[in-house]
Amino acid sequence: MDVVLTGTGSPLPDPNRAGPSTLIKADDCHVLIDAGRGVVMRMAGAGSLPLFLRAVLITHLHSDHICDLNDVITTHWIMSQGNATLPIYGPPGIKEFVNRQMHALEADIGYRIEHHEELTHGPKVEVIEVGAGEQFTLDDLSIRIAATEHAPAKPTVGYRIEHNEVAVALVGDTVPCEGVDELAREADAYVQTVIRSDLVGLSPNPMMLDILDYHSDLEQAAQTAARVNVKRLVLTHMVPAPTEDQYPEWISQAQHYFDGEIVIGDDLTTVSL
Ligand SMILES: [Zn+2]
Ligand SMILES: [Zn+2]
Repeated sequence: MDVVLTGTGSPLPDPNRAGPSTLIKADDCHVLIDAGRGVVMRMAGAGSLPLFLRAVLITHLHSDHICDLNDVITTHWIMSQGNATLPIYGPPGIKEFVNRQMHALEADIGYRIEHHEELTHGPKVEVIEVGAGEQFTLDDLSIRIAATEHAPAKPTVGYRIEHNEVAVALVGDTVPCEGVDELAREADAYVQTVIRSDLVGLSPNPMMLDILDYHSDLEQAAQTAARVNVKRLVLTHMVPAPTEDQYPEWISQAQHYFDGEIVIGDDLTTVSL
């Protein structure tokens, strides 16, 4: 299984980091977790396309995690010539969000149906609302869901994906909580969105300070990784975004608490499990 960090950015615009998303490639089964800014471009860079997706899994409805879902839906529709259905899983509210996206795309959908004989209808999506404790399979992948804590964004969920004895936890934005521990326990990779509270806390901007109370900071992510004995801690959605020469500092701060492998990098960093 490959875990590709298709977007390591955050809501803050960055010329080099796409918005939050991670692509799982398990043989021919591609699953996208979240769909932030620039995701389709990064999928192409990862040797994937919306057309190859077995499903999209959404962690929560913050805009940075879903703002390019419309591009995933439209590109999937066009490239499959309307023949394929895109399953989208997410917490309650995702159905309404996708419905409204479809309405927003109405003019485009109409133009393309009128212009291309192959297209007789709009995008086919199957939206499935999921909650804590649920499980399902996608081909050979088994997926488990737990609740995460990111209030006032709620409900929020994380996913544990298992394939051939390999497990990866993708928990989205959350403070440390029981659900994260459950998903990440003994996992081969634990992908966590992180902030550096020691740096963000220096900001004079009160809106930046607000983000401190609903994300895991780097230390907390490392503590979680150690507590539940994961093999690898994979950092994403880093705030503030580090430059490459700052990676060692991030790693050494995490190493105070966790002695497993720590992965930090640019977009398209890939962890092969
Ligand atoms: Zn969020
Ligand atoms: Zn976020």
